[in-house]
Amino acid sequence: MKTTIKDGYLAEHGPNSAMLNDARISKLLDELGLTGRILKADHASAKRFIIKNGKPFPMPYSIGSLLFNKVLTFPTLLRIACEPFIGRSAELEDQSFADFVRHRLGKTMLDYAAGAFVNGIYAGDPEKLHFKLAFPRMYKVVDRNRSLILNQFKKPPADPNRLKKKEIISFQNGMQELPAAFEKKLTSMGCEILTEVSNSEIKRNSNKCWSYHFTHDGNDHQREFDKIIVTVPAHRLDTIQFPENLPLVHTKNIEHPPVASLLLGYRRSDVEHPLDGFGMLASLPEKTDILGSLFTSTLFPDDNRAPADHVSINVMLGGSRNSDIASLPEAEMIATAHRELTKILGIKGEPTFHHLTSWKKAIPQVNLGHEQVIAELEKIESENPGIQFAGNYRGGISVGDCLINGMNLAI
Ligand SMILES: Cc1cc2nc3c(=O)[nH]c(=O)nc-3n(C[C@H](O)[C@H](O)[C@H](O)COP(=O)(O)OP(=O)(O)OC[C@H]3O[C@@H](n4cnc5c(N)ncnc54)[C@H](O)[C@@H]3O)c2cc1C
Repeated sequence: MKTTIKDGYLAEHGPNSAMLNDARISKLLDELGLTGRILKADHASAKRFIIKNGKPFPMPYSIGSLLFNKVLTFPTLLRIACEPFIGRSAELEDQSFADFVRHRLGKTMLDYAAGAFVNGIYAGDPEKLHFKLAFPRMYKVVDRNRSLILNQFKKPPADPNRLKKKEIISFQNGMQELPAAFEKKLTSMGCEILTEVSNSEIKRNSNKCWSYHFTHDGNDHQREFDKIIVTVPAHRLDTIQFPENLPLVHTKNIEHPPVASLLLGYRRSDVEHPLDGFGMLASLPEKTDILGSLFTSTLFPDDNRAPADHVSINVMLGGSRNSDIASLPEAEMIATAHRELTKILGIKGEPTFHHLTSWKKAIPQVNLGHEQVIAELEKIESENPGIQFAGNYRGGISVGDCLINGMNLAI
């Protein structure tokens, strides 16, 4: 999480928002002194657009809007209506997300709704994503109630942590406030925080303690711990030397496609589209060079997201299915995103601002075979008490999931 505030715009390098749907996250934010800093997303963000045939169409979100929507055709709606009568797939445990959606809702629903959703969350390939491990909540619903539609009419299982109203949130000066608040709190508790360490090595000592060896500010150091939690991204595990009996083979090989996050600013009067929603996602058959974009100045319409009479749009490019685009030189990337937005949103002028973050390895793909990663980590942890691994490649990709998993690990 990193935020740049410049020239009247606020650009996020990573996540733009987090979902606040759990009382444990509210309590944590309170303990970090962030409650008064929370920004709730504007109510307009309930509307989401799907890019189809070069234009953004609102995704239906109610029975009434289904009847008049331009994303899902009448035969698709009929196919969706059959979902409660479709039996449980024999392959549910090891199915790709694409196979799951095709089985329950049909191909068109995969192409024009669920596949776009995958673009937005994983920047991945629905044919490769492991349904059960990549979408554990949806899996639990289907495992419990078989039908996604019938589940809508059932009372969810009691969960004391679920907040009555879920909110999409950020903070007044962007998402970076969250790690900054952690740093402040931990330092006040007497914790030592060191950044820019190198030559990391973890050793298991004979007395069952663990030691961590590293270089910081040009000097070699060593610290002893009874527990070590490794939270570096899976693609950075190679930068740490582990004892020989910790073979992290599958975990180190998780696919991380590149993603570019580009914030573009425009004069409000240059953008034909009202930008009256959360953002837009490309449907799978769409021939566009962008994965989608967030209408950031609509999402959080505070004066530091874009200057007066201007708007900001955060474009995402790359991902598993279009990885070459994420490696374009900056000028070409801006030109590509601007060209696509011009066609889709009816933009008349040039961008007034840009800020690019290129993630060479962005989001870990929870693909078919990911069960080997989980098994590998569980084996290592049970055979080596005191060492644990946590991060977005295990138990959920979202900021909220990472926070909850971290809290569960700590208690
Ligand atoms: C472009 C983008 C947009 C996203 N948008 C959203 C969104 O809007 N909402 C949402 O919920 N999620 C979003 N996500 C996903 C979410 O942000 C991440 O999954 C989550 O923040 C990952 O948390 P983490 O702690 O696992 O890893 P990270 O946040 O990557 O933290 C890992 C830390 O390890 C450090 N590190 C790396 N190597 C070493 C080393 N060798 N030694 C010591 N430290 C090291 C890094 O500096 C970093 O601080 C987005 C992700 C990306 C890439």
